[in-house]
Amino acid sequence: MNITPTDIARFEAAFDRGEHEECWPWKKATQYGYGRLRIDGKVRKATRVAYLLHYGELPDDKFVCHSCDNPSCVNPHHLWLGTPKENQHDAQLKRRKPVIRNRGKKNANSVLNDLDVEIVLYLIFRGYGDKQIAARLSVSKTTIANIRADRAWVHLPRPVEVITRSRSAAPEVEWENRDGATADSI
Ligand SMILES: [Zn+2]
Repeated sequence: MNITPTDIARFEAAFDRGEHEECWPWKKATQYGYGRLRIDGKVRKATRVAYLLHYGELPDDKFVCHSCDNPSCVNPHHLWLGTPKENQHDAQLKRRKPVIRNRGKKNANSVLNDLDVEIVLYLIFRGYGDKQIAARLSVSKTTIANIRADRAWVHLPRPVEVITRSRSAAPEVEWENRDGATADSI
């Protein structure tokens, strides 16, 4: 992402900078509590911008997580990266690797984008059930169950905590898309 000095000024004006250990809440537009702003032609998560500006790099395949459990916080000292390697290692320990069938936006039936799915993963981590999350994002319970059980959106890295918590809660459901077709027919 190409960030200009004007973008940085807009970013800096959109939150309250506090002390090192305090949360720095986002004051401008949010979605599900996460700050958002348009940079380089795309709407970005404020936490990703905060991480990139402070630490100087942010690989696309990594997940910016909060240590403070406060989605609107953009204090870089409260942000950490969940690496796919950690996740993969953890996943191998805890379960068989999922079969990649439904790869996010490329699937025409998908109604969520990467940001939505990060929010779903966050809500799973916070202990919300499929029904509650489905209602909040206006999608089917099956969509959420598939994300929880790694039958969809498996290209997005899961924070280790999500994997740990979702194992016991993951319901056994048949994979199907929103039209009722089976995965193999797609
Ligand atoms: Zn914080």
